[in-house]
Amino acid sequence: MTGKRGAARFELIVGVHDLSEEPDARGDELKSWVPFSAARPLLDELVETSREAGTRLRITSDDAFRSDVDLLAPWLVTHGIAGSFFVLTRFLGRPGRLTANDVRGLADLGMEIGVHGADHLDWTAISEREFLDDVTEGRAILEGILGRPVDVVAPPFGRFDARILHHLFAMGFREVHTCRPGLALTSVAIKPRNMLKAGNEAALRAVGGRRGNWSDAARCRLRPLSVRLKTLAGLP
Ligand SMILES: [Zn+2]
Repeated sequence: MTGKRGAARFELIVGVHDLSEEPDARGDELKSWVPFSAARPLLDELVETSREAGTRLRITSDDAFRSDVDLLAPWLVTHGIAGSFFVLTRFLGRPGRLTANDVRGLADLGMEIGVHGADHLDWTAISEREFLDDVTEGRAILEGILGRPVDVVAPPFGRFDARILHHLFAMGFREVHTCRPGLALTSVAIKPRNMLKAGNEAALRAVGGRRGNWSDAARCRLRPLSVRLKTLAGLP
């Protein structure tokens, strides 16, 4: 890892889900399934384009699919790319999903483990109590597995509002990963993520070649304010 890359001002954060050749994803989850044979050439390309653009590449994976350990982690280690895994704790041990041991194994490889709730609930569609229970349970289980604090979070479905954001920061989370595309500013806690889905490859390539400029930075810095205004206006 070069010093220049380590000091990058912008990050290109990519979000993936199930990457198995035969999907473990079911129902709606299949919308985010991309077999690794199709994802890998694009990820390889993003390693090159982000390096050329001087952005820091990070790959995140949500929902605790088996492919996190079977396919993605080996690729990340080979390329020296940072990985963050947002784990649904009630899904651990289900068929096609990670186990608690897998989560420990990912952490041992230097991967970041983050909270995605316990039961994959839309936090904007439930009561404040239910949201707090879901995020607290998800965090406590992961901290129990890892034996250390977990302080990054990705709200399920990328859905959150000003109230949720306020709670997450009050709980000490230092990064909140969204599903809104764009480059992330390393110094800003709300992280845009570019989600890999079938049909979204061109958009990913386009953002992957970007160096980041004042408008990317402004967009990141203004996100907390825009979330607040949207919440006040009752917008999703
Ligand atoms: Zn999810």
